[in-house]
Amino acid sequence: MTEDSRKILVIGGSRGIGAAIVQRFAENGDSVAFTYAGSAEAAATLQKNTGAVAVLSDASDREALIAVIRAQGKLDVLVVNAGALVLGNPLDLDADAVDRMIDLNVRAPYHAAVEAARSMAEGGRIIIIGSVNGDRMPFEGGAAYALTKSAMQGMARGLARDFGARGITVNVVQPGPTDTDMNPANGPMSDAMHSFMAIKRHVRPTEVAGMVLWLAGPDAGAVTGAMHTIDGGFGA
Ligand code: NDP
Repeated sequence: MTEDSRKILVIGGSRGIGAAIVQRFAENGDSVAFTYAGSAEAAATLQKNTGAVAVLSDASDREALIAVIRAQGKLDVLVVNAGALVLGNPLDLDADAVDRMIDLNVRAPYHAAVEAARSMAEGGRIIIIGSVNGDRMPFEGGAAYALTKSAMQGMARGLARDFGARGITVNVVQPGPTDTDMNPANGPMSDAMHSFMAIKRHVRPTEVAGMVLWLAGPDAGAVTGAMHTIDGGFGA
């Protein structure tokens, strides 16, 4: 893998953390494509501003997801960022909404990682955006979301071993509260979330992107099967 000619695919890159990741790879001179499902305008703007290629594709649709990855050919870096957050009393939550979240947060990263690895370059990088809630769930209503994010931990440990002989690394980046549409810094739960943190502010999407860039870079070739938490001490 050469540092200046990498081929990157970000699953779920139109907004928030994903858009910051697309931006940083593009600034780095990499060849970047990203998928999106609902935010056509944001995707078009990001494409225009960064030169990254926007691809309309629902990550919950396994066959479509696999087709998009196959169409990219030999990737150097796959980032799976698309995710949903369904919170609430488990006794009241809509079971279909929970299952859709599991489809997007668990099934999609698994199938995406496996498909990308089929043709990935030696020394390639697979990076999944998990959550500190995979380690710690300090409030009510987050059981199903935490389930999806701790599932990523087991997946990364296993796939790191499956693909390690080819020098492919598999890692999870675990943000804490991060200022995006999913969890705005001025949202109603901010004060409660900051009360769990040592650095009492939301993480910036660019900070998460910086960690992803490092994991994709030359110094991280021996970092695999690991969780990388960036959470202002939420999980400390
Ligand atoms: P946002 O809701 O702000 O953005 C989500 C992104 O994922 C959008 O670009 C969206 O694209 C894309 N996406 C959603 N569903 C699909 C789908 N079915 N197919 C393709 N793309 C999809 O979320 P964040 O940026 O906050 O979160 C990104 C990741 O970080 C998630 O995995 C989340 O769980 C995780 N995370 C976030 C935290 C936070 O506090 N914000 C904390 C910890 C983890 P579009 O709108 O075009 O569909």
